[in-house]
Amino acid sequence: VDLRLDPREIGRTLDELAEIGNRHAGGEGEAQARDRLLERFRELGLQRVRLEAFPYLRAHRAAAQCAVGTLRLSANALQYTAPVQAAGRALYVGEATEEDWARLDALGARLQGRIAVVHSVFPFDLSGALIERGIAGLVHVCETPDGIVGNFAGALYPPPLAPPWEGRPLPYPGVTIAHPAGRALISTLTARPDVEVTLGHDARYEEAVAYNVIGELDGEGEDQAEHVIVCAHYDSQAEGPCVYDNATGVASLLECARVLSRRARARRIVLIASAAEEIGCWGASAYVHAHRDELPGAVGMVNLDGVASAYPSRREIWSADAGMAALAERIARGCGWIADRVMNVRSTFGDHAPFGDAGVPSCLIWRPEHPYYHSRGDVRDRVDEFAVAQTAGVSAALIDHLAGGGRAGGPPRLGA
Ligand SMILES: [Zn+2]
Repeated sequence: VDLRLDPREIGRTLDELAEIGNRHAGGEGEAQARDRLLERFRELGLQRVRLEAFPYLRAHRAAAQCAVGTLRLSANALQYTAPVQAAGRALYVGEATEEDWARLDALGARLQGRIAVVHSVFPFDLSGALIERGIAGLVHVCETPDGIVGNFAGALYPPPLAPPWEGRPLPYPGVTIAHPAGRALISTLTARPDVEVTLGHDARYEEAVAYNVIGELDGEGEDQAEHVIVCAHYDSQAEGPCVYDNATGVASLLECARVLSRRARARRIVLIASAAEEIGCWGASAYVHAHRDELPGAVGMVNLDGVASAYPSRREIWSADAGMAALAERIARGCGWIADRVMNVRSTFGDHAPFGDAGVPSCLIWRPEHPYYHSRGDVRDRVDEFAVAQTAGVSAALIDHLAGGGRAGGPPRLGA
């Protein structure tokens, strides 16, 4: 049986999701994508196709302000930061790495009551350190080209699963600005360290309900408690069609389901199109919580997120589980896909995180470098379906291996 993924099928789904447009949690596009995925799961002949609802805290889009002295900078609200205004002297932290904190500590710099200015791809990973240091506000500088201001969450994983939504919002307000504005800000600070930076937004946070779309492919083995989980989030960040992140994952999920459905397997495959990932890995965390009694039967989890684009990028495998990382690397090599980096570390930026933390060997196989990531510039023209098919093909081969494709018993469990 040919397990190759069809780039034309992937391209068709990319077109369809680009047409729906933005799919931010709580918006119209999210509901349209959910309904369409339910239809696609049924058309593919998956078993037990269903929606699983979960509550979450929705972040409505809001106007944001940022200024240094009298210079006004275009800004987006950093989601899940406090909807208040802050003002104070600012300190440029750099990327907020361990080295940055060590350097600032050695200089005796204090952030208490001050505005932190930070360059970071993952601003949500900084919340712990920033709360501890008592900042008054956060200016997050993003690296998106063309002076575009991206959309990001100030807090991500783990999300609170029920009221009172502990930890949301964060105790400080935050905004994102573009990197040319960030340069102007830093330049102003070097000329006038005492100048006041002001920032804030009026985001509204409200309890809402979202839905994971779930379908299954049955296995033929005796123990149907054993299963493989495949997940791709169908929500998006707040602007634009967000094709790379994550129409590529959804298109790959559907194409994996189509190809794998034509092949016998020992173990059941559970396919999840998850919701509300961009704002807190909420859907995957809710799934893990709701299915915690079944998860000991999960032999592996494969996350499809930001699979590939039209840009050159490193090939990367991320897994907190050493056995899974090694297996994925070996299978990738067999597909002619040589990983540039294998990151055998725990990570908190995607739907593999809650599964990994629940003890399921989980991984993400992707090409992560898309310059317009999390911005309105993440459009259809910047994604190449052939690159997506090639990279998602590695995930398909891994899923097939974990599910015992073409076998009666299936391979031994990882670590067994
Ligand atoms: Zn994503």
